[in-house]
Amino acid sequence: MINVKLIPAFTDNYIFALTLNDGLIAVVDPGEAAPVFAYLKENNLDLSYIILTHHHDDHIGGTEELRAAFPDALVIGHEKDAKRLPPLDEAVKDGDKFTIGDTDFDVIETAGHTIGHICYHLPQEHILFVGDTLFVMGCGRLFEGSAAQMYESLTKLCALDDDTQIYCAHEYSLANATFALHAFPDNEEVKSAHFFVEALCEDGIPTVPTTLKAEKLSNPFLLAKDVDEFAKLRSEKDNF
Ligand code: ZN
Ligand code: FE
Repeated sequence: MINVKLIPAFTDNYIFALTLNDGLIAVVDPGEAAPVFAYLKENNLDLSYIILTHHHDDHIGGTEELRAAFPDALVIGHEKDAKRLPPLDEAVKDGDKFTIGDTDFDVIETAGHTIGHICYHLPQEHILFVGDTLFVMGCGRLFEGSAAQMYESLTKLCALDDDTQIYCAHEYSLANATFALHAFPDNEEVKSAHFFVEALCEDGIPTVPTTLKAEKLSNPFLLAKDVDEFAKLRSEKDNF
């Protein structure tokens, strides 16, 4: 079993610190370096890997500072987006598998939020790092890809095991839950998920990770029956 620690960054980002076997530490989407440095220092850890989902600054911004402090750390990201990412030590693409310590990682391309977006699935651990593709009761905005691309990407993620733990890169859950309730006011699962998210947020408890099962039941973008309904919901949410 690996350990995943949430490191809050900026106003609503999460950076994830993974403790793998042999004391290997990887961080996912270090948008800023300072909170990662603080975490590593507090726990007396070295950084071995920096794993990137997409090129937005709030996900990559701390990479160079971390690499300067840990010159042996390897940066992993999408081959397709190499020009927009910090220099990559390991360029990966859809369908690739790699291993850190004993832990396998599968690369799943999820175009939509950006064209070069990838997710990292840890099949033995039932863990998925989704960057800005999927959120608790929401999904990423379509900055570069089409609704059809995002719909296809989400459909791919839905094929994973229902008990998969989903680590989203933002705490957008309360706003997402409010929209979900507006879009599906009579759906009992949406109502109870909204209640649950609201309770956690009131107590300042992260709503991340979620599970694929929970999202399939209460995420409006996964409840959409087809791409047209998905596209309609996405544009409604953009203006909500
Ligand atoms: Zn983004
Ligand atoms: Fe983001």
